[in-house]
Amino acid sequence: MGSENSAESEVRRTDFLREIVQADLRKGTHGGKVLTRFPPEPNGYLHIGHAKSICINFGIAKELGDGRCNLRYDDTNPAKEDTEYVESILNDIRWLGFDPGENIFFASDYFEQLYLWAEELIENGKAYVCSLNEQEVREYRGTVMEPGKPSPDRNRPTAESLDLFRRMRAGEFPDGTYTLRAKIDMSNPNMKMRDPPLYRIRHQHHHRTGDEWCIYPFYDFAHGLSDAIEGITHSICTLEFENNRELYDWLVDGVSTPCKPRQYEFARLSLTYCLMSKRKLLKLVEEGVVSGWDDPRMPTISGMRRRGVTAAAIRSFCDRIGVAKTNSQVDMAILDAAIREDLNPQSPRYMAVLNPLKVVIENVEEGREELLDAPSFPSGFAAQGSRVLPFSREIWIERDDFMETPTKGFRRLAPGREVRLRHAWLLTCTDVIKNAAGEVIELRGRIDPESRGVAAPDGRKVRGTIHWVSAAHAVKGTIRLYDRLVSHPSPGTGGVDFHEHLNPESLVEVKHAKLEPALANLEPGVHLQFERTGFFYTDPQEHQSDNLVFNRVIALKDSWVKRGKAPKVNPPKRVETPNRAPQEPTGPRVYPKAVQERIDHLSREFELPLQAAAGLAQSPALTEFFEDTVAAGTRPNSAASWVLGEVRKVIEGDGLEPLRFGPTEVAALISLVEAGRVSNRNAKDIFEVMARESGQPEQIMADLNVESISDQGQLEVVIDQVLTEHSDAVARYRAGERKLQGFLMGQVMRAMQGKADAREVGRILRDRLES
Ligand code: ATP
Ligand code: MG
Repeated sequence: MGSENSAESEVRRTDFLREIVQADLRKGTHGGKVLTRFPPEPNGYLHIGHAKSICINFGIAKELGDGRCNLRYDDTNPAKEDTEYVESILNDIRWLGFDPGENIFFASDYFEQLYLWAEELIENGKAYVCSLNEQEVREYRGTVMEPGKPSPDRNRPTAESLDLFRRMRAGEFPDGTYTLRAKIDMSNPNMKMRDPPLYRIRHQHHHRTGDEWCIYPFYDFAHGLSDAIEGITHSICTLEFENNRELYDWLVDGVSTPCKPRQYEFARLSLTYCLMSKRKLLKLVEEGVVSGWDDPRMPTISGMRRRGVTAAAIRSFCDRIGVAKTNSQVDMAILDAAIREDLNPQSPRYMAVLNPLKVVIENVEEGREELLDAPSFPSGFAAQGSRVLPFSREIWIERDDFMETPTKGFRRLAPGREVRLRHAWLLTCTDVIKNAAGEVIELRGRIDPESRGVAAPDGRKVRGTIHWVSAAHAVKGTIRLYDRLVSHPSPGTGGVDFHEHLNPESLVEVKHAKLEPALANLEPGVHLQFERTGFFYTDPQEHQSDNLVFNRVIALKDSWVKRGKAPKVNPPKRVETPNRAPQEPTGPRVYPKAVQERIDHLSREFELPLQAAAGLAQSPALTEFFEDTVAAGTRPNSAASWVLGEVRKVIEGDGLEPLRFGPTEVAALISLVEAGRVSNRNAKDIFEVMARESGQPEQIMADLNVESISDQGQLEVVIDQVLTEHSDAVARYRAGERKLQGFLMGQVMRAMQGKADAREVGRILRDRLES
């Protein structure tokens, strides 16, 4: 767990909240102190939205304060609260990598102090006991357009209110007979200030105070004053409380509190394809739509944890989306990308066949067994290791990896065609066996025994690589393919109940997957990748050595990215005259307003050259794709050039096919190029496969066998060999025929079958020639 469980090492950018806190520190407001709090109501499990609030509150305390952030259970509504929630909340916060330590409080512990402050308000003529019922209070309150009417009890004498309030507490009155209300201003434009209720009568058992109380404070009264009790300096909450701030200040300033905390609001997290209200999530649990709060499809912290999402991925997501002052919806793809990025370097690779088709390999004798040593990580990864991968005469492959009559662009197995078996030999399909109904039930094939570890034997170009599992060695397991719980970007909108947007395929269970035998030895709660399929996690509760259960954390690729549906903006008109290059307009161009806004935004935010900004700005889909590519970690200039050069062609293609790749994949591809692991030309081939068939660049690179070799030792051997073979050319170079460097470079690249990192070769070659 070590590093996963610590939020120490991450660098955070600044944001408006941190700026406010820093300014207060400089000015010495609040005595130069910073104390934040996270105030959940224990009426459900924490979700990804809460994670954002936790990262902000604990993050600010850690970076700018003395590290302390209080956890305060906001348990003022006895009806819905439960100790199960209290425990899960603390557990989730700690798992996320934050810890309130000793500073765990309950608003219910402050009931006595809050009550005393309520009496203080009454005594100062700032509150009164009102006998209007809920309905009447609403009617009297007026509207945004009209002022409200005073309650008939508004001028009730102080002594009478005090007496009634004490009797309310003593339990003399049934629920709903009286409320305590602040006496502020019935014509205030802010509705919250029109004599808001502070206390209600509720004869209800409380999960902590039992039956001690039958009056309970409302949120507005309890929240700010609890902050004051704890000495909170910055009370950070979500935007829907903006209107409550005036009341917050009125209360904090109106009673004799030990300090004056202030409230600041930020935009709450809202995600596409996600239900995030505790009320709706509770419904799903109660209705049995999901197996519980920790169902791996739930956007709860506990659900995500069970699915296999790590705390580091959630923190990195929260960091990436930043803190804003206006509400907007964050694309779920950004969360998915954070999860993939986190899992990729730490998940050893294995092979699993989900929908098996048998292949009998006729030139492998029965009973022969090859134990291959297969690396657990692609080259270039820091993590290492390998596992034993048995091979034998009969293997399972994925049904989808075979097509009897291959369609155009299909690069995998078909009659007479050759594919690479991952980590093993080249396989040719020689025969197709069918049952009486004409369904393919088995394939026959032959391997090329010389082809293991040889990229292109006899110069044969084999473009497809498929995964497989030896039939004699396969172990069985259950694979749970989890997908988004809802299939609508904004579930429950458009006048439709959110239930209608539930994704019927959010869980597909594959009972009899064929797994390579190394998988039998995994513990519960372990991350891995099934090659070409996705990132998985051995279920922390159900996985056992005799019942293997794998949860899909996230597919390797995003199958939800659709072509930009945004309306097409008309590009500025260009006059194209036949037989002449299109004329570049001379004067400044006039763009439609929306395009111009995007150009300005792109140039300002990303410092793009005008031409690139203008190209991207032509369509919202391109702009968005570009921004997401940058968000996934690419330098703006590289992202712009790929999006304009390659991605645009696909996005603006015929529009018939869904996009098979997303910004994350493009960003990953660019990083391969920039790390020198693949040449630009090969990167374009990889991109072509991504666009046509989808997949992770890393994987496609391995499939196409185009990874550049940049290992100095390996390159030096080949280079020295070439220089020895062409010693005459070397001599002529040294005598001044400089152009021979190109010739020698070509010889090296040829000897390396085009797979060398050209920059490295150039560097070493120059070194050698100059020495
Ligand atoms: P929900 O609306 O899902 O029921 P809530 O706001 O009622 O959530 P609380 O337990 O009151 O849940 O929330 C505790 C803290 O978490 C509050 O400070 C709240 O502002 C914050 N929070 C809740 N949801 C989000 C969200 N989606 N994004 C950011 N912060 C959130
Ligand atoms: Mg709430």
